[in-house]
Amino acid sequence: MLNKKAHIELTQISARSDNSMMSYIIKTSNNKTIVIDGGLKIEAETLKQYIQKYGNKVDYWFITHPHKDHVGAFIDIVENSDIKIENIYYSINSQEWYNENEPNRAYEAEEFYRAIQNEKIKEKAKTPQIGDKIKIGKNIYVEILQTANPEITYNAINNSSMVFKIHVNDKTILMLGDIGPEASEKLIKKYGKNLKSDIVQMSHHGQSGATEEFYKLVEPEICLWQSPQWLWDNVTGTFKTLETRKWMENLGVKTNYVAKDGDITITVE
Ligand SMILES: [Zn+2]
Repeated sequence: MLNKKAHIELTQISARSDNSMMSYIIKTSNNKTIVIDGGLKIEAETLKQYIQKYGNKVDYWFITHPHKDHVGAFIDIVENSDIKIENIYYSINSQEWYNENEPNRAYEAEEFYRAIQNEKIKEKAKTPQIGDKIKIGKNIYVEILQTANPEITYNAINNSSMVFKIHVNDKTILMLGDIGPEASEKLIKKYGKNLKSDIVQMSHHGQSGATEEFYKLVEPEICLWQSPQWLWDNVTGTFKTLETRKWMENLGVKTNYVAKDGDITITVE
C-alpha cells in the first residue's frame, strides 16, 4: 500500500576509511534529497553514489561546521562534480576568527570558504538565523536551534556547530554536529526541556561532545553514532566513548545505530 503520510528515509553513512567522519543523506516522501555534512574528502565517492541513486541532485545541504571530517566531501563535490545543489545552509565565523581561535585548523575553514564562494553555488548558500523553520515539504521542516557562537573561543570550531531539529509529523531528529560542553550549556539555558527529541545524532562522534545533562533533556529513543569500531571501543584508551555510552544506557536508550556496523537506513514518519 502506498504510504501517504509524510516520511523520510534517513541513512547514516559509515566511514570507508579508518578515520571518523559525519555524513547523512535523507530522501523525503516528497522526493527531496537532503545531505548533512558529508564526511571527509575520501568519503566523497560513497556519498556521490547515494546522491546519484536519488536523482543526482541535492535539494538541501546542511553543514554543521567546517572541519574537514564534515565538509571534505562537500568541497570535493562542489569543485569536481556536476551534481546540482539547490540550497546550502551553513553558519560560520569570519576567517580572522578561525585564524585567531583555532589557528592549526583555520585552513580547513579557508577551504570551505573557497568552496562556498564557487560560482556554481554562491547564490544557493544561505546563513539561517536561530528560530528559522526551513520547509522541506508538507509536515517536514528543519528548525535551526543554534548558529555560529563567536563568543565561545574554547574548542572553537566544534562549539560553533550549527544545531538543528528535523521535524517529520510529530517526530524529531536532533543534529548536533560536534558541539562540546560550552555550547551544550548555552542550549540547555535557551531550550531546556524543548531539547527533547526522538532521535539524536551523538555529538562529536560519540565522545567528548555534549554533556550528560544535555542528553538527559533530549531523552532520545534512538541514538545515531558516527563512531568507527576503534572509537566505539575506545581501543587507545584516550576517548570518552565508554562514558557517553553509559549515560545513554542509564537513560534507557535501547536502539543505537553505530557507524562501525556499516550504513544504516531508517524510516521516520
Ligand atoms: Zn567531527
